[in-house]
Amino acid sequence: ASFGYQEVREEEKAERVGQVFSSVASSYDLMNDLMSGGLHRLWKDSLVASVQPFAGMQHLDVAGGTGDVAVRVLRAMQADQARQQESSDSPAAVPLGHVHLCDINPGMLQEGYKKAAQNGLGDLGALHWVTGDAEQLPFQDNSIDAYTIAFGIRNVTHIDAALVEAYRVLKKGGAFHCLEFSQMALPGLQEIYDAYSFNVIPQIGRVVANDEASYQYLVESIRRFPDQKTFASLVRMAGFRNVSYKNFTGGVCAIHSGFKW
Ligand code: SAM
Repeated sequence: ASFGYQEVREEEKAERVGQVFSSVASSYDLMNDLMSGGLHRLWKDSLVASVQPFAGMQHLDVAGGTGDVAVRVLRAMQADQARQQESSDSPAAVPLGHVHLCDINPGMLQEGYKKAAQNGLGDLGALHWVTGDAEQLPFQDNSIDAYTIAFGIRNVTHIDAALVEAYRVLKKGGAFHCLEFSQMALPGLQEIYDAYSFNVIPQIGRVVANDEASYQYLVESIRRFPDQKTFASLVRMAGFRNVSYKNFTGGVCAIHSGFKW
């Protein structure tokens, strides 16, 4: 059941994305591990390595869901803060910084909030959970050092509007990094990957999350998303410079990066 990108009506897409993530919020983390064989953890590590987080920064993770990326960024900021404190005369003055996690779905944010509190990250005053739309970010112009979006932009109704918003909120010199499912680099691999994703993933969804339809939707949305080169040109059209991408796992996903000049 593959259908063209334009064939999905806009209201229908927004509504479906809302239903999907409300329905999967509680089983979301387990499903990620099962579907990707744990690989999503390594892909997210690579995304955060691209960011190169630093103490005192303002980081924004959009479509942040249950906080996997935000927590990784915060841990890296903590490590940098500790490094700076070691060589500082006034360690207490070295700021940690802030990670803002913005997601349209309060159910996903709630799961993330619980998980962060369990991991002792709740009381630092550094993680901020914000309900908001990637297309209309509740953040000021030129206020963010780095923007990440992981497996999120595919779900946004107007990708171009989300990219323009990313550009707006970033400071000059700020970086955009997007981790998203992409197209396989070799045609033969694409067939194997399609067979896996169309047949196996909805079945895992049925057994584990009792929700085959949501996972069927996720697989279809992956197939419809633009390939690496096309997406890179969309990033450029939003104003970003030095746009580049790296493939992971043969093109199962890619990280696109760009900078605000
Ligand atoms: N970034 C997280 C991760 O990698 O685990 C979550 C990814 S999850 C596949 C996609 C997320 O995008 C969901 O939490 C969903 O609520 C959110 N989302 C969908 N449309 C959005 C929009 N227009 N603005 C902000 N978040 C959105």
